[in-house]
Amino acid sequence: MPNPLPLKSRFDLPEGVIYLDGNSLGPLPRGAQARVAQVLSDEWGQQLIKAWNTAGWMAMPARVGDRIARLIGAPEGSVTTGDTLSIKVYQALAAALKMAPSRRVILSDTGNFPSDLYMAQGLIGTIGQGHELRLAEPEAVLEAITEEIAVVMLTHVDYRTGRLHDMEAITKAAHAAGAVMIWDLAHSAGAVPVDIAASEAEFAVGCTYKYLNGGPGAPAFIYARPDIIDHVKPALAGWLGHDTPFAMEPGYRPAMSTERLRVGTPPIVQLALLDHALDIWEGVDMQALRAASIRLSERFICEVEARCPQLRLASPRDPQARGSQVSFAFEDGYPVMQALIERGVIGDFRAPNILRFGFTPLYLDEADVVRAAEILGDVMAEGVWQEPHYSVRSRVT
Ligand SMILES: *Cc1c(COP(=O)(O)O)cnc(C)c1O
Repeated sequence: MPNPLPLKSRFDLPEGVIYLDGNSLGPLPRGAQARVAQVLSDEWGQQLIKAWNTAGWMAMPARVGDRIARLIGAPEGSVTTGDTLSIKVYQALAAALKMAPSRRVILSDTGNFPSDLYMAQGLIGTIGQGHELRLAEPEAVLEAITEEIAVVMLTHVDYRTGRLHDMEAITKAAHAAGAVMIWDLAHSAGAVPVDIAASEAEFAVGCTYKYLNGGPGAPAFIYARPDIIDHVKPALAGWLGHDTPFAMEPGYRPAMSTERLRVGTPPIVQLALLDHALDIWEGVDMQALRAASIRLSERFICEVEARCPQLRLASPRDPQARGSQVSFAFEDGYPVMQALIERGVIGDFRAPNILRFGFTPLYLDEADVVRAAEILGDVMAEGVWQEPHYSVRSRVT
């Protein structure tokens, strides 16, 4: 039997806060402190360097990867963890470009997260073979897939609008044109059901501090399709991706498995935190989670539109066409969000004008989203956001 949602008791959320930003940084899972304390005292403290073997540290990237694999429809052994998402984007893209050596165009869309685009730009400079990063509008990606394209690199759920790409159709079109497909699942893993194996995409990457609640700086994950992994040429050929790292050979020889996508020493304390966070996902049915997410976001849109005529829905109205977040456009979105946060409703602001709210059925129920909409309604009606101090920008928005 799947666990009924929500599972609020599994999280330590502060009193009086309605947290609608789990799409950016998931909250603290209850018991995380004890897990970290155990890693520090029993493992690092007592076992010292032996812990790489005795506490299973060296196997952790793959073991935790297998737990993520279940959530994205990937087979066992096809996902590893480590580094940050930006690094994993670079790795996947470099490997994908080597699979299409006669082509020079990377296709992405204007809604992609800047870091993915920046990593592509940096990689193009490093390779120095005249590659081009071409951006289509999100709605026009399918038509932009031509036989010039080496790699299609897209983020499944648009970080700003929540717009969802059709993973199967786009992957099929990419393959029909002879291109390699990379999906960024940053806003999909733990948010919407994903069947990456069925899509037949070559690569997928994602982060674990958003919907998976692994904590700030939690390691990223990378998937490569099992039938290609032994031919993937890792751009970042670190020693822990070597077939026999402790043979200390002078030449790089990649591991004949997903291990070749590892780079250097794994972040053990962060991996332990993520492992602990993934316990909550045991027994969560992704279809049930999706249904709950849609109920929450539909209710929120309805309640906000009834109260805030000034806000314009910037997400697709069809719930099947969006991920687990809802955005509203408003010119003075920044001070509105600051006023809202001060009243205990935490969402975030994305330039130039987007108020963004994430819906996470693990720890939110309908009463929470109705209350959040009421508070947003008050902030808009009373115009309290116009007080000057709400417009002072912080480093992180
Ligand atoms: C959150 C996010 C990132 C962040 O990358 P980091 O290296 O983890 O900072 C990158 N790409 C996408 C699509 C994201 O949503």
